[in-house]
Amino acid sequence: MQKELRKLPSVDKLLKQNEVRALLQEHGRELTVTAIQEVLADTRQAILSGLRACPKTTELCQRVATRLSSLLRPSLHPVINATGVIIHTNLGRSPLSVAAQEAIREMSAYSNLEYDLPAGERGSRYIHAEELLCRLTGAETGLVVNNDAAAVLLILTALAKGREVVISRGQLVEIGGGFRIPEVMAQSGAHLVEVGTTNRTYLQDYQAAITLDTAMLLHVHTSNFRLLGFVHQTPLADIVTLAQAHDLLAVEDLGSGALLDTAQFGLGHEPTVQESLAAGADLVCFSGDKLLGGPQAGIIVGKSALIAVLKHHPLTRAMRVSKTVIAGLQATLLHYLKGEATDQIPVWQMIAMDVGQIKSRATALTEWLREALALSPPGGKVQAEVVDGSSRVGGGSLPGETLPTRLVAIRVTAPHELAQRLRLGSPPLIGRIEKDVFLLDLRTVLRTQEAALRQALKAAL
Ligand SMILES: *Cc1c(COP(=O)(O)O)cnc(C)c1O
Repeated sequence: MQKELRKLPSVDKLLKQNEVRALLQEHGRELTVTAIQEVLADTRQAILSGLRACPKTTELCQRVATRLSSLLRPSLHPVINATGVIIHTNLGRSPLSVAAQEAIREMSAYSNLEYDLPAGERGSRYIHAEELLCRLTGAETGLVVNNDAAAVLLILTALAKGREVVISRGQLVEIGGGFRIPEVMAQSGAHLVEVGTTNRTYLQDYQAAITLDTAMLLHVHTSNFRLLGFVHQTPLADIVTLAQAHDLLAVEDLGSGALLDTAQFGLGHEPTVQESLAAGADLVCFSGDKLLGGPQAGIIVGKSALIAVLKHHPLTRAMRVSKTVIAGLQATLLHYLKGEATDQIPVWQMIAMDVGQIKSRATALTEWLREALALSPPGGKVQAEVVDGSSRVGGGSLPGETLPTRLVAIRVTAPHELAQRLRLGSPPLIGRIEKDVFLLDLRTVLRTQEAALRQALKAAL
């Protein structure tokens, strides 16, 4: 072992190798030396823990090159989503429209973010999305913060701290990523008053819970699960009527916050923001990157007097959205105003995508695969075919609902190995495995990524 350790070259010796000299030229001394030191330390450790022979110098140089390129590759990069889950939280939720991407790119320069151009004086960043939100939802006004979790925390803190908030037991949900309504409530300083049972909550339950300390009746959309059978939730409109009779606030956390009706695409009906406002909710909050199809944001719409209170709360400053988010959101909202959401917003394009279209893309990919890899259908080692399947909307909306799709099914002896090779490719390609068959759903693969997808498959197979 000591003998092998002594064979390890010094940093200086490696710096003199031709291959490392080239790296030195390209990346400079500091970074190259760091990579060499890390490689040598790893190799020393490997020898100490049982590696019998010290690698050859050329091999070490190769490792230095690999280390440098992984050092320089950003750990966050684009992937191809072939999972068929449209709003995939692990894959960054909603892909943005071309216009939204462009708007975000333009924001890398100066802008009138907080500058009132006609007056030549300080303005507000919040006006940029406000008018659009009002036009689209019918709200008096709106406010944008970092995400919907922040929106809920802000509303509870600013409007109900130290007082009681009544909520149905059936709506004490956990969204994932640690967001649980009772915990957010505790964090805000509002007191949770749970009413009803897990499966049934009536208007009388809310009524009986109202005291002099009550500030708000909160309605939370159970976005990511569904109760079936003997269930009853009190409609929002009834909660609003009760709140008004007692001079209380009626607030709804919608989560996904659709502006379009999902039912027109053969899915269940996801409640829309317009409906919640029409039912009379004082405030409605929802995510920017779920069914809205925009960047990560938390959007609050509703009564001006309440939003004015929120705007001046110190938490709002701590949850302030960036200029890039406002730009992306504004561009996304404009698609709705122009009536082009299903043509321009990727999430809605994917929801509205015709099965025939997916089938022809899947067929074309399968034929290409057979040719490119000279697969022998049937009986060969690798087989590809088009099969029926289903896509999901995801993003904590429409649980259990699916959209019919056509999948490219790839049969190989070791599907998990194939999936891993594809995940580690550049760009990574993410599919799914069902019953030992590797499946690709082209519904969620952007058109602009199809060439890269073929490249990835070719490399991995
Ligand atoms: C998703 C969701 C949230 C959290 O939204 P983020 O934008 O991810 O913070 C809160 N409430 C409900 C009901 C949700 O579905």
